[in-house]
Amino acid sequence: MSDKSINRIFVSAHEIYNAMNSPYPSTLLENAVNEFAKLPGIGRKSALRLVLHLLRQDKEKVANFANTIIKLKNEVKYCSSCHNISDTEMCGICADRSRDHSLVCVVENVKEVMAIEKTIQFRGVYHVLGGIISPIDGIGPSDLEIASLEERVSNGNIKEVILALSATMEGDTTNFYIFRRLQPYGVKVSIIARGVSIGDEIEYADEVTLGRSIINRTPFDESYKLLSK
Ligand code: ZN
Repeated sequence: MSDKSINRIFVSAHEIYNAMNSPYPSTLLENAVNEFAKLPGIGRKSALRLVLHLLRQDKEKVANFANTIIKLKNEVKYCSSCHNISDTEMCGICADRSRDHSLVCVVENVKEVMAIEKTIQFRGVYHVLGGIISPIDGIGPSDLEIASLEERVSNGNIKEVILALSATMEGDTTNFYIFRRLQPYGVKVSIIARGVSIGDEIEYADEVTLGRSIINRTPFDESYKLLSK
């Protein structure tokens, strides 16, 4: 027997072995489950449930589902001013002239913009960092929209910057870094009141608490002095 045919026997034996040990009756099904299981918070059981649900839908519905995600990824824009997710060059909030453009609230992501907007307590504008400084995850200041925040402040039209990041160690590090970067411009820097317990992410805070924490914000240097005591 040639090496080639031995190899072929080995490969097909390997395939049979894999098929026998895989709980999935179809590789197509398994591949789809693998993709869904890569999503945050989705285990393999939930992934299978979602895939089976999609399989039961008609082709048009599934195509619409897939196309919506591809379209989102291909066509989504980020606001040229605040970097929030937007359909247009400038987002609706930044384009709204009735809002106070001298008041800028710094947040981690679009989720926090949505949470703060729901409180109806904030009439300023935002600056979306796109994350927070996290050395463990390899995220440094240059990976975030911090230089663009500094640029906005350096133009001189901003009176106050409100820091509304998570009350975590990474959030605190990012707050302090931004404070230091903005200090030379003499802009007022404040931090939302921590009605939210340490470690809670602000997107989970209820609307009343979150709304109140923006109203009851304190100057950052005072809160920093308290922290370092
Ligand atoms: Zn914007």
